[in-house]
Amino acid sequence: MKVLVSDPLDPEAVERVRAAGHEVTEKTGLKGAELIAALDGVHGLMIRGATKVTADVLRAANSLKVVVRAGTGLDNVDRVTAKECGVEVRNTPAANAVSVAELTLGMMLALERHLVPAANDMRAGRWEKKKYMGRELAGRRLGLVGFGRIGRETALRARAFGMEVTACDPLIENWPAGFEWAKRATLDEMLPEVDVLSLHVPLTDSTRNIIDAKAFARMKPDALLVNCSRGGTVDEGALYEALKSGRLRGAALDVFATEPPGALELFQLENVIATPHIGASTDAAQNRAGTEAADILNEVLARAGAKA
Ligand code: NAD
Repeated sequence: MKVLVSDPLDPEAVERVRAAGHEVTEKTGLKGAELIAALDGVHGLMIRGATKVTADVLRAANSLKVVVRAGTGLDNVDRVTAKECGVEVRNTPAANAVSVAELTLGMMLALERHLVPAANDMRAGRWEKKKYMGRELAGRRLGLVGFGRIGRETALRARAFGMEVTACDPLIENWPAGFEWAKRATLDEMLPEVDVLSLHVPLTDSTRNIIDAKAFARMKPDALLVNCSRGGTVDEGALYEALKSGRLRGAALDVFATEPPGALELFQLENVIATPHIGASTDAAQNRAGTEAADILNEVLARAGAKA
């Protein structure tokens, strides 16, 4: 069958699809009409986060059977239309968890030890030893909003650093085995008691701006916020005000309401670290996501071939 790979994928992943006997075309940066043209006669589409698989694309792609996203979110695929058109949509949600958890720990350490401004000073030839008094993570409390795959990987690593962990996740019925040491709380209970608040939720109606001015007002004034989940879960205007007014001590953000976000005022604040959505950008995560995506695609196409 014919497969289009329209975002850069790990070479091993592309090789796996070819090895299954499919004819693979790799073409990135396609949009709208170009993507529709490239999908002519194609049965399987492999993407990451950049390709926009809109309703128009799905309706025009008559032979398409499956879209596989190597990665977590499916924000760039119109899943409702895909269902209407009989196109299966899959992703590889577990592949990135460790990489995102490690970035989250990195963000906490970078904030507490002022790594970014200290490194910038050194680059400019300044030795500001006294300016950068930091804090240890050990003995402090991490609050996790969302206790799924990434929340749990983050909890394990925070525990190894000697942190106490509280988590809020109203959708979990049975607390996961082996995580009894993580205290379960509601968001309301958790906000006033945590030293670092870290988000690990998808963007849904229940999580949009879940951390807003009201939430910041309930947090400790020397707390930190880390968001390596999805833009839109933190109210960026309220965050700016909270940092500017000293309601919050610092923030580290990997995700933004609009991406790319442009030159947000937030980025000018010394106590903010911003990165361009790099949570899953490690060779290990990309390799895992790509090869899992390839296996899923091969399996769905084999099923489709058997039916035809
Ligand atoms: P997951 O589905 O395993 O976990 C998400 C958890 O959030 C679930 O347990 C769910 O019950 C919980 N949740 C949903 N609504 C909630 C609410 N209102 N309050 C509290 N908890 C709520 O997902 P995951 O793999 O852990 O991923 C978490 C987030 O990280 C996703 O949004 C994902 O898109 C994002 N992510 C970011 C990057 C990055 O590059 N920064 C990479 C991968 C994933």
